[in-house]
Amino acid sequence: MKAAIFDKPGLENLKIKDDVELPKITDHDVLIRVKMAGVNPVDHITVSGTPEIKPLPHIPGAETSGVVEEVGQHVMSLKRGDRVIVYNKVFDGICDICMGGDEMLCRNGGGQLIGVATNGGFAEFMAVPEKNLFKIPDEMQWELAASIPVTTLTPYHTLKRAALTIDEFLVIFGASGNTGMMATQFGKKMGAKVIAVSKDNWIKDFGADYIITEYDRVAEKVNELTQGKMADVVLNSLGVKTWENSFASVGLNGRWVTFGGLTGADAKLNVQSLYSKQIKLIGSTGGTRKEMTEVIDMSKELKTRVWKIFTLDEAKEALEALFAKERDGRILLKVS
Ligand SMILES: [Zn+2]
Repeated sequence: MKAAIFDKPGLENLKIKDDVELPKITDHDVLIRVKMAGVNPVDHITVSGTPEIKPLPHIPGAETSGVVEEVGQHVMSLKRGDRVIVYNKVFDGICDICMGGDEMLCRNGGGQLIGVATNGGFAEFMAVPEKNLFKIPDEMQWELAASIPVTTLTPYHTLKRAALTIDEFLVIFGASGNTGMMATQFGKKMGAKVIAVSKDNWIKDFGADYIITEYDRVAEKVNELTQGKMADVVLNSLGVKTWENSFASVGLNGRWVTFGGLTGADAKLNVQSLYSKQIKLIGSTGGTRKEMTEVIDMSKELKTRVWKIFTLDEAKEALEALFAKERDGRILLKVS
């Protein structure tokens, strides 16, 4: 089969090969023919090899959609031809955490991802355990399907953890980014007043009520827009660069929530602000399989903004484009 594959870390080592061995499936696995893959910072990190990547040679791709090609002997829920997306957390399903419904924190999964700890979706075919696959409706576009497992599930889980509720003020840093535009839509669906921190006016079409374009004056602007109340929930996964402004935007009984630290993870916390305003700091990662079914159920009402679709042959260019200044929406890889 054809795949984007690297045998040592570094974007320059990512090659397109036509003679990669077809993945073998076990009795509980499913072979899928990949249709469309999301391109995310995690894939860039995987190829650059910041953490140690196994197996080598390695096929990246942590957000995948496709069609079932072949099922293992004990697979019961899927058949050839089913359209599916891949829940990318590695989990056993039998530890105390999994049994509590938090598979993404599996005690034995080590926080690992399909596409990082195993071969991923930048290939014509991929072997996936049955328990990691979810059927999607016939009418779902592949562009959206390839944006559900990471880009949609992550902010959905995050806003649920933040217990965002009707009429609250939600401030989203990086609102026009991959996850940000989904967070904006969920914020609106949950009945919140959404304040998007973004330079892109189109985020209004995704449900933003207000836009803050001056990144260094966010807290001041939130103060104006909320008439001194400040935000009930602040979502900031941009990391330390925006930490101060984001924490200063949280109001009384407010929640500050994150699922990432793109610009760095070490922030300085003013403990007095934390306790005197009764602020909750909430961490979030991925989402549960139950939530995966919830976002699939809601998918008709969701949309994504695609900037560019690359072919599998252009996998390297697609990864490079992630950090292009002119990027304005999602980057996807059309595999077949
Ligand atoms: Zn587990």
